[in-house]
Amino acid sequence: MRYIEKDFSCENIDVIAYETELIENKLDKCNLSDAAIHPTMSGPNVYDVVKSFDSFKKLKQAMLREQGYICCYCGQSIKDSTCIVEHVLPKSKYRHLAGEYENLLLSCKPTQEEETERKKTGGNKKNNIKYWHCDKLKENEELNYTPLQNDCASHFIYLDNGEVKGDDMLANADIKTLGLNCNYLKNRRYNAILGAIFDEDNTLISNEEMEQYATLVMKRKQDGSLVEFCFVIAGAINHLLKKDK
Ligand SMILES: [Zn+2]
Repeated sequence: MRYIEKDFSCENIDVIAYETELIENKLDKCNLSDAAIHPTMSGPNVYDVVKSFDSFKKLKQAMLREQGYICCYCGQSIKDSTCIVEHVLPKSKYRHLAGEYENLLLSCKPTQEEETERKKTGGNKKNNIKYWHCDKLKENEELNYTPLQNDCASHFIYLDNGEVKGDDMLANADIKTLGLNCNYLKNRRYNAILGAIFDEDNTLISNEEMEQYATLVMKRKQDGSLVEFCFVIAGAINHLLKKDK
């Protein structure tokens, strides 16, 4: 998890256009805080309406750019067709925030490969939790630490074996809620870390090179995207270097 800074400035025209459409339809947080407005609409009903807005498509594109095209929780690469809109505070409980940009992030959704593997196990609830992660597993739960908090990254420690652990009980609970240690993610993170710390001759790069790469990997590419698992790679390198001292 890493901090995602929301852009409420007037230059963010796609967000402004979307928020204007919300207000025009009385589906913004101020209007919806009044139970007398749209009295029969639940949070999920509100979201069903707003996601059909013309401005919603552009909002999603703006959010993809904002996140550097990686999942808000695990850091996997995402694009329009492979992401899902995540309500940080669940829409079922917080009706007034069901459409608000400030409560929305983009999460990955299960890949075809994961779904095929999951279905092989019979697709029952006990097995599903071994395969699902991020928004799909979180559903209507609430997290202790979210990407909207600027110090969230400091609570998650990435190990060079691909595992993630929390720095306290709250972060460990979030890891469980989001399924961040499922085998699929653990293996993908492990491979991303190995790819970063070994060169093409399979030699471990020097501590100095690792240090430089940990900074470099967090920078956006020219097209605005971030390296898949960038914060995992940077975190694992920093953890390795600390162990070395
Ligand atoms: Zn994810």
